[in-house]
This record gives sequence, C-alpha cells and structure tokens, in this order.
Amino acid sequence: MPFPENAEQMWAHGYQFAGHGSCQGCHEAIEWWRTPQGRHIPMNRMPDSTSAAIAHWATCPESGWFRRAQPAKPAGAEKLKKAS
Ligand SMILES: [Zn+2]
Repeated sequence: MPFPENAEQMWAHGYQFAGHGSCQGCHEAIEWWRTPQGRHIPMNRMPDSTSAAIAHWATCPESGWFRRAQPAKPAGAEKLKKAS
C-alpha cells in the first residue's frame, strides 16, 4: 500500500490523528498519527485535508532521534541512511 499523499487520504486509509507535538530533534511543530498497524508516526503539520502528507523524518534536519524512537523501519529510513 503506498503511503497516503495527503491528510484526506490518511483518514481514508485508516490513519488517525493522534495529537500535536514537537520534534525532539529540531523542535518543529509536528502531528502524531496512528497508523492502521497501531504505530505512531510523526508527520509534518497538515493544516487542511489536502495538505501534503510528509513524514517528519523525511524533512527533519535532526532525524537521528527517529531511529531510536522507531524500532520498526519507517518508510524513508533508507533515504536517510544513504544521506548520512
Ligand atoms: Zn525535526
């Protein structure tokens, strides 16, 4: 299943908004979403339903903490590994 492209698709795919938060790395405001598998993932803020759904670890300059926070390999982890 491809990752949803926006907030509307996340809801449609069974993702649920879990709350606001801030990144432990760069302190940017983020949104926590619960995946259909029950994992919590940090997303960049999506102010409306058509906002692009982008996992925060894809854009975070301090993404190292995600590897500690996420035992399961999130989408985008490969990209980060190559970049470092
Ligand atoms: Zn961050």
